[in-house]
Amino acid sequence: MTDFEVSQQLFERANRVIPGGVNSPVRAFRAVGGTPPFIASARGPYLTDADGDEYVDLICSWGPMILGHAHPAVVDAVREAAGRGTSYGAPTPGEVELAEEIVARTAVEQVRLVNSGTEATMSAIRLARGFTGRAKVVKFAGCYHGHVDSLLAAAGSGVATLALPDTPGVTGATTADTIVLPYNDVAAIEQAFADHGHDIACVITEAVPCNMGVVPPLPDFNALLKRLCGQNGALLVIDEVLTGFRATRSGWYGAEGVAGDLTTFGKVMGGGLPAAAFGGRADVMQHLAPAGPVYQAGTLSGNPLATAAGLATLRNATDEVYAAIDRAADIVGRAASEALLKEGVPHRLQIAANLFSIFFTAESVGDFAAAQQQDTAAYAAFFHEALSRGVYLPPSAYEVWFLSAAHDDEALEKITDMLPHAARAAAQAQAQGR
Ligand SMILES: *Cc1c(COP(=O)(O)O)cnc(C)c1O
Repeated sequence: MTDFEVSQQLFERANRVIPGGVNSPVRAFRAVGGTPPFIASARGPYLTDADGDEYVDLICSWGPMILGHAHPAVVDAVREAAGRGTSYGAPTPGEVELAEEIVARTAVEQVRLVNSGTEATMSAIRLARGFTGRAKVVKFAGCYHGHVDSLLAAAGSGVATLALPDTPGVTGATTADTIVLPYNDVAAIEQAFADHGHDIACVITEAVPCNMGVVPPLPDFNALLKRLCGQNGALLVIDEVLTGFRATRSGWYGAEGVAGDLTTFGKVMGGGLPAAAFGGRADVMQHLAPAGPVYQAGTLSGNPLATAAGLATLRNATDEVYAAIDRAADIVGRAASEALLKEGVPHRLQIAANLFSIFFTAESVGDFAAAQQQDTAAYAAFFHEALSRGVYLPPSAYEVWFLSAAHDDEALEKITDMLPHAARAAAQAQAQGR
């Protein structure tokens, strides 16, 4: 390990010209303290920072890099696409192929490509409102759907990490039609439909909440949402931006089989470039301009480089790739839990397919309120010990630990060798905190 000299200098420069020194809040180390390493390059399961330190990467760009970094097929596809020009503002063959790939893997019948997960959820909600002629949107506390104004209420992830209240800049009028309910609460959702059934345009939910840590839905919870929406003329919007093409080749839909009326995608489908999508029932999607009246547009939507990276990623995401991710997640999750158990650190390992997270709390976590019972100081100690030993965990206790098919036995061993030390650091932090 070096002393982060170059990263430190970059962070100081960054702070002069970029608020907080980062372009997305959770990249800063506010929740765990310290200076984030600035990443100069990445290959397979490894990141290399500007000081030359190498880390096993457990962030994977927060999900997209299921094949690992700089996968040759993805790099070649992007290089070839770049040689043909980077954007035309006219239809391309690549966007047809990517849309067909998404439709083939999931329950959606039609799909519109956009540039970010935020744009996908924002557009899906506009479409749901336009289709139903209703205003209200139901979301669950701790679910993150990007930084859409109307959804920035109890939004998990970066917002939870920083413990921001309702963010300034989002007006009461904007969130007035948002109903926030506790996750996994059957009585609360039934009551919301009893009270507002005729005004609810849609319920939006993460397929599996992953942005407050992994909180699996109760058995049949998603099916219940689908049924209640159907009975009340509302749409179910399932947000698979994180789980899509990662949890299984068909996302969480592939594990549970509940299809949203609309579904949002992002992350993996862009292969590390900015691409996302929303799709669903053809009769709903046909309300979108230019087929229908609900306006939605984008200068760079379906960008040739992004579609090339996404297509190369999905086409190389074979059954073997998913088996490798499943295995890696199983090994790391269990080893982390065992290490913490050995040191007497209270924790919960929560799993949904190959997505898992570790909550530094004794009780099982079924909603956001339970997730917030975590000992975040113990996680910070765990995180820094891991980082100093060359393993880059998410700098927040509220995140999935992301693995890829490139996490081979050598990379996995580096992680499992580190875990007893990180667990000891967490135990020491807890002892000092008492
Ligand atoms: C990451 C994420 C988003 C937002 O996607 P961006 O590309 O960051 O705008 C939306 N929903 C979920 C479930 C996510 O995990």
